[in-house]
Amino acid sequence: MNTAIVENDLAPEKRITNIAPVTVTVAHGDGIGPEIMAATLKILKAAGAALTIEEIEIGEKVYLKGNSAGIDNSAWDSLRSTRVFLKAPITTPQGGGFKSINVTTRKMLGLFANVRPCVSYSPYIHTKHPLMDVVIIRENEEDLYAGIEHQQTDEVVQCLKLISRPGTEKIVRYAFEYARAYNRKKVTCFTKDNIMKMTDGLFHKLFIEVGKEYPEIEQEHLIVDIGAAKLADTPERFDVIVMPNLYGDILSDVAAQITGSVGLAGSANIGEGFAMFEAIHGSAPDIAGKNQANPSGLLLGAIQMLVHIGQKTVAEKIQNAWLKTLEDGQHTADIYKDGMSAAKLGTQEFAAAVIERLGQRPDTLKPVKYADSISQFNIKITERKPVKKELVGVDVFLQFNERNPNKLAELIKDISASGLKLTMITNRGVKVWPEGFPETFCTDHWRCRFKNDMQSGVSYQAAIDLIQKIHNRNLDVIKTENLYLFDGVQSFTAGQGQ
Ligand code: NAD
Repeated sequence: MNTAIVENDLAPEKRITNIAPVTVTVAHGDGIGPEIMAATLKILKAAGAALTIEEIEIGEKVYLKGNSAGIDNSAWDSLRSTRVFLKAPITTPQGGGFKSINVTTRKMLGLFANVRPCVSYSPYIHTKHPLMDVVIIRENEEDLYAGIEHQQTDEVVQCLKLISRPGTEKIVRYAFEYARAYNRKKVTCFTKDNIMKMTDGLFHKLFIEVGKEYPEIEQEHLIVDIGAAKLADTPERFDVIVMPNLYGDILSDVAAQITGSVGLAGSANIGEGFAMFEAIHGSAPDIAGKNQANPSGLLLGAIQMLVHIGQKTVAEKIQNAWLKTLEDGQHTADIYKDGMSAAKLGTQEFAAAVIERLGQRPDTLKPVKYADSISQFNIKITERKPVKKELVGVDVFLQFNERNPNKLAELIKDISASGLKLTMITNRGVKVWPEGFPETFCTDHWRCRFKNDMQSGVSYQAAIDLIQKIHNRNLDVIKTENLYLFDGVQSFTAGQGQ
């Protein structure tokens, strides 16, 4: 691990911060990574950022040494000690069980919030949406990205969607805290709770609950499909948008792209006590080593880092110089346009153009000013009193290869255990017994719902006895889900068509 000093190279009178240098971990990455990182650090240094840099090696070289995570223990040690990470893009080798470093670092360091400002720079960067200024705040750890997937039958695989109350409260609170600190007026929440009533329903419910603590901020909820359509059509109607992981992953790329270029967006991954900053694009192997890449995405990530560590004045100085560079038509090839651009610059020449403009502000584009209120947010989790949990039934999932629900019902409808009786069979969530539609297509994956007709609690032993009896009939039990009342409230969904 090398240590290089950035700010300390500057004579004291040239430094614009009087604070002690902050140590950050830097990975130069793969592909265009080293070029755009060199350009970014050069700009940070010229602007007087007070940083001590610890360099780590992660990515392709580490993967190819046989480390499937692409990151070794010395890199983790550096991250644990600095807690701030500026990361250039990484190439994940195809196939061979290599794990994405992004997903690993987000999860291992608890980086629950992904923050991606998506801003138009019209008329200097061509976009159909000149007034766009949206911040997408994406939950980063949960949802379908828990990576819990199983093949259950010959025909069916499943992926578990997990939404937790504390995980959701943290991200929703982060979105409101962000809006408050950055003087944003509105927070919109996207979910699909008309379909996923419990998982996305919890996300929406907590958005409403937490939102009550931020009455000065306008709040709205949109179903993600119409929300996405409006985002793509009229992004200027949005301000801050918060959403679960999968929707956020997709829509933050859409939002960045429609500003004019994904190459212009940076992102922050924030946790309690850790943060990682990066460009949103990848390692662009097609242009690596050609001095063609646009360093702006990583630079904007680095600016988010400077704000995070309290060096707001340097952050503003760099960002305003960068805006002025765009205004002056000093463009890299990806954003160069005849008639609008004045010069087509390489990566390092673009960095030099930004450095030349340090201290200047844009004339037309809105200059940046980071408010003093921006600090590390207090993301508390509300303590809750214990809830009463009562088992009232069990969904038994079976592989049954005949596509006939009535035949399956005949095999199990007389089975009971401590009052648990068959009440419904569904296939892919649709009720097919009793009184199913003959038109409904059935796979080999069946859910058989056994409930206590007394509507009172049963012991888990009753569920075990039930499964044993089904197994004794030579039926293939693939999994079970318990049916609970929480504080007396039914906490499982009905079958579709029930
Ligand atoms: P990519 O973002 O690397 O490239 C897509 C296209 O955009 C290419 O044509 C590329 O030349 C261009 N491009 C990207 N960044 C640019 C820049 N700064 N300036 C100019 N043009 C730029 O996506 P990809 O090709 O799908 O992925 C390449 C590699 O990057 C893969 O190994 C992938 O796993 C990895 N990746 C890493 C990250 C990350 O580390 N955060 C993110 C996405 C992809």
